[in-house]
Amino acid sequence: RPDEQWREVDRYVTDLLSPDDEALAGALSAGAEAGLPAIAVAGNQGRMLQLLAKTAGARRILEIGTLGGYSTIWLARALPSGGRLISLEYNPAHAEVARASLDRAGLSSVAEVRTGAALDTLPQLAAEPGAGPFDFFFIDADKVNNPRYVEWALKLSRPGSVIVVDNVIRGGAVLNEDGDPSVRGTREMFDLVAAEPRLEATAVQTVGSKGYDGFLLARVVS
Ligand code: SAM
Repeated sequence: RPDEQWREVDRYVTDLLSPDDEALAGALSAGAEAGLPAIAVAGNQGRMLQLLAKTAGARRILEIGTLGGYSTIWLARALPSGGRLISLEYNPAHAEVARASLDRAGLSSVAEVRTGAALDTLPQLAAEPGAGPFDFFFIDADKVNNPRYVEWALKLSRPGSVIVVDNVIRGGAVLNEDGDPSVRGTREMFDLVAAEPRLEATAVQTVGSKGYDGFLLARVVS
């Protein structure tokens, strides 16, 4: 079956190039023990995010959608010394698991998890003196609000900032004009990005251990 092959290829690549260390594997197992859904990025995707953040020279990272902190650990490890990451998570139980995993990874002074609906915590964050700009954004929460999250990312960005939005292909369902609310949010986000002169962007389809999906990569031009 193709999805079994996708999983095996992911395992081949990940085992060779970026196997989970104790902290990353621990974040996944702590999430599983606490009953969190297994919807973290795959290991090779976490590594890709980390490499993108490093390539962008990111010193300040904003993540929307923490879950158990797996992608958070990958991204926080991209930061140079003095760098900071803020991750926004709606579910207090998820945030608690993530904070414990970040602590075990030795990253609690670098990465902060803020609890609440991101559409509530983003304006609070934006109102803090010196909150932005962020150099790198990873948007991976409720897909319905993706257009709003991209707008917030733009507000909190500088020219050259990078925005990654996960799960934008949705098994090809992104083509359905009257798809489910997540598809509609994704399509509205694509329209917004396409019409936004401050962004240059593309989306790449992916297959792997997480099925058939893809991510949007955007760069803030001005
Ligand atoms: N980025 C994580 C990773 O790869 O390890 C996975 C994040 S998971 C796909 C999505 C997370 O977004 C869930 O933990 C969910 O509780 C959270 N979420 C859902 N709605 C949210 C909202 N309105 N504000 C903030 N977080 C939200």
